[in-house]
Amino acid sequence: MRRLLLASVSVMCLMNLTSSAQKKEGKTKFIDPANMDLSVKPGDNFYVYASGTWLKNNPVPASKTRWGSFDALGLKSLESLRSLCENAAANPGKNSISQRVGDFYASAMDSATIEKLGYTPIKDEFTRLGSLKTKEQVLHEIATLRTKGVGSPVFGFGVDQDDKNVDQYIPQLGQGGTTLPDRDYYLKNDARSLQIRAAYFSYITDMFKMVGVDSVTAKANAAAIMELETGLAKAQNSRVEMRDPKKTYNKFSLADFSKTTPGFNWKSLLTEMKVTKADSILVNNPAFFRTADALFSAVDINTWKAYLQWTLIKSSAPYLSSKFIDRSFVFNKVLSGQKQITPRWQRMSRLVDGGLGELLGQLYVEKYFNDASKKRMLELVLNIQSTFADRINRLDWMSSTTKQKALEKLNAIINKIGFPDKWETYDGVVIKKDDLIGNLVSIDQFEYNKEVSRMGKPVDKKIWGMTPATVNAYYNPANNEIVFPAGILQFPFFDFAADDAVNYGGIAAVIGHELTHGFDDEGRLYGADGNLKDWWTEEDNTKFTDKAQKVIEQFNGFTVNDSLHVNGELTVGENLADLGGINIAYEAFKKTAQGKSDTKIDGFTPDQRFFLSWAQVWRSNILPEFAAQLVMTDPHSPGKYRCNGPITNMDAWYKAFNIQAGDKMYKAETDRIKIW
Ligand SMILES: [Zn+2]
Repeated sequence: MRRLLLASVSVMCLMNLTSSAQKKEGKTKFIDPANMDLSVKPGDNFYVYASGTWLKNNPVPASKTRWGSFDALGLKSLESLRSLCENAAANPGKNSISQRVGDFYASAMDSATIEKLGYTPIKDEFTRLGSLKTKEQVLHEIATLRTKGVGSPVFGFGVDQDDKNVDQYIPQLGQGGTTLPDRDYYLKNDARSLQIRAAYFSYITDMFKMVGVDSVTAKANAAAIMELETGLAKAQNSRVEMRDPKKTYNKFSLADFSKTTPGFNWKSLLTEMKVTKADSILVNNPAFFRTADALFSAVDINTWKAYLQWTLIKSSAPYLSSKFIDRSFVFNKVLSGQKQITPRWQRMSRLVDGGLGELLGQLYVEKYFNDASKKRMLELVLNIQSTFADRINRLDWMSSTTKQKALEKLNAIINKIGFPDKWETYDGVVIKKDDLIGNLVSIDQFEYNKEVSRMGKPVDKKIWGMTPATVNAYYNPANNEIVFPAGILQFPFFDFAADDAVNYGGIAAVIGHELTHGFDDEGRLYGADGNLKDWWTEEDNTKFTDKAQKVIEQFNGFTVNDSLHVNGELTVGENLADLGGINIAYEAFKKTAQGKSDTKIDGFTPDQRFFLSWAQVWRSNILPEFAAQLVMTDPHSPGKYRCNGPITNMDAWYKAFNIQAGDKMYKAETDRIKIW
């Protein structure tokens, strides 16, 4: 029942997540030659050279869609969360953190009660939506279902910082209303898209039948819902268009915007959505709302009722009895290729982390994180930041005017490490041991009310967008901040016992990646204070765009499943961040004692170990179906290209492995792309 995040809220993260800390016994090999494939030349395919044996020996587990360093570490995090949840459930005590975490987890794992309930937790709401009599009532539900945590019908909505005035909150509307992972699944007619649409049709039909609708009506509902969603999909902009912060920034007064959508009066809709203090609004795709308005008046009321019922069913299904979960999995299987359903404890540990993450997070950092890690990480961040500053000063393509602004921005970047200074208390959330759906509704309403009640208040820059156990990191342009949850500060990204080459090829490159996001094609459009504004000279602007275009072309050349191409435009922000990140990390590494030495470990020089560590982070096996989905939807490139793409632009990599013309990855010196 989680609400969709607005696409316009642009936070760039390291990885889209859905990792392998080795058991440390005796002498750990932080770079293990047994994982490599030394029969492959590093210059022909560095990714396979570095991880070929590991890739062969670590196929995707049946209950996963991808298996690599991130995923293995993510699973380790989940195992920690599970044990914290189980402990809390067994010893709730009077401690309100343990009680709420433990009871929420217990309610989520109480399959006996959940089975017995079937779909009764949504029955009344389903019937109520089916009995709507007028379009006005339908519109009221489109607005208010989200306030109750029931999905995001028709459009996305949130209250967040105004990109051009980040010290103020403003209501924001986003394109949405569809179910499949991308608009193209509705619009394309290739065999794969047709297969997915057929699977979606039977999924909707079956789910309606499972809540007591006769089969003729269920089929009619499925057809009508798909037609309506296709209409919405046609009006959506592509993911590439949605990456453009200028194009997606459209501010209107409520009165003006309402004139463009005669059926939607935004003043009264916002009031129904509990926002009263607003007179203007941000809209990421105004044309989408004109179409939604036209569809609202053109499409019959029965279709709208079925669409709202479907919103309820699909958002509740993961928390109903097993037949709803299993049927949803059958559909997901077609989309992602996953063979077996993810074990319940994994799904539910993640649910508790998603719902009460800053309670569970307190238990997590108490047990699994320490001040020494935070201190070491802070040193690394400052070290990487100052190396980045040196590099900006030396850039041969940027004017001193723009450099000065860039340095000002770099120096203003705030870092957040490990966990929040101030924890969410979840006051008012009611958690009961035997009421999973009730708990979710309570949490969702709490989150919704918290978000809309921000209107008119000072911006809270202390909040975190990820929970402490998350194996990921992000840059948030509006706050000009980089954020590293405790979960990522582990091997293979970081280990106290590892040599600097491993930590710099791992976590330092991640730090560099996040810092570079402040200067990628999107991030560079935001100033030191977080506001969207031009701070580049015309000439520097052109030079940067030309360089970024080369990265787009490089990644357009990479293929997935033999015939699909990586979308260079969709992934350019992440690829720029990777290119900047590893270059900055390498230069910082060269300042360490190991970086200056030539002492080999396990037969590899410090520089070689740096690049092998980088490769180790990105190793992953992935199911072809899931790979195809990510090529369409994920702004991150596949792991093998994140490994191989940036290093071909680094002279140091050629030198470290003696890469020569004729090797398959070789690029002439003049073709190597240098930006940050
Ligand atoms: Zn990123």
